[in-house]
Amino acid sequence: MRQQIAAANWKMNCTLQQAEELLNKLATVSDFNSVNRIVIVAVPAPYLLLAKQKLAHQTNMFVAAQNCFTKKSGAYTGEISAEMLQSMDINYVLIGHSERREYFNENNTMLAEKVNLALEYEVTPIFCCGESLSIREAGNQNEFVAQQLKDSLFQLSAAQIVKVVIAYEPIWAIGTGKTASSAQAQEMHQHIRKALEIQYGSNIADAVSVLYGGSVKGNNAVEIFSQPDVDGGLVGGASLVAEEFVAIMNALK
Ligand code: PEP
Repeated sequence: MRQQIAAANWKMNCTLQQAEELLNKLATVSDFNSVNRIVIVAVPAPYLLLAKQKLAHQTNMFVAAQNCFTKKSGAYTGEISAEMLQSMDINYVLIGHSERREYFNENNTMLAEKVNLALEYEVTPIFCCGESLSIREAGNQNEFVAQQLKDSLFQLSAAQIVKVVIAYEPIWAIGTGKTASSAQAQEMHQHIRKALEIQYGSNIADAVSVLYGGSVKGNNAVEIFSQPDVDGGLVGGASLVAEEFVAIMNALK
């Protein structure tokens, strides 16, 4: 049974005080039904240990980093290694968010290196993929996303790919208030699962959680998450408001 996941991506938001306040609210959530459902909170790097500490007693809440580097260690000022994350017992890392691809020129080859390193250090990659508006308008979204998966994930063995979470995030829906319709989300998630099946077989394809990201809110999460191939969401803006994010958590199947 695939895990249903509500993942928060705080991006570069929150002062330390605001982060503490938000984490305190998540730490006091007590009515979240956790059977096969988990919550992951991707906080800015300076708050990783604070988040671990605050959420320590929440057995189904995990902390994620928003990025890690393509190299193991060395003279790469400002970067964070997968090994550092492992040493802090951080269990997840976002890889290939569209903002990293756009503003930091991360390409599919670099992202394959990051995925490999994260897995080597036992940090679960949440691999983000998704097309721009122009690609969608040209009707090439399926080929585009399939290529992202092929270039950055399909070097993995079957034993490795089941340790990856995939997040489909159409770029035109991120932070725009414009959500993909539930039918559009399901269509792409089914396409992603089919690509996994062709590469690894149906048992593996059925075991990988595929999240939807792009303007998920408390009031649209139930509909999107109800789609058979949508296993939860990666949530930006709405994850900064505790009540909204809790509503999204509770919308998981
Ligand atoms: C994201 O940052 O991954 C995201 C989906 O953002 P938003 O929910 O704000 O669209």
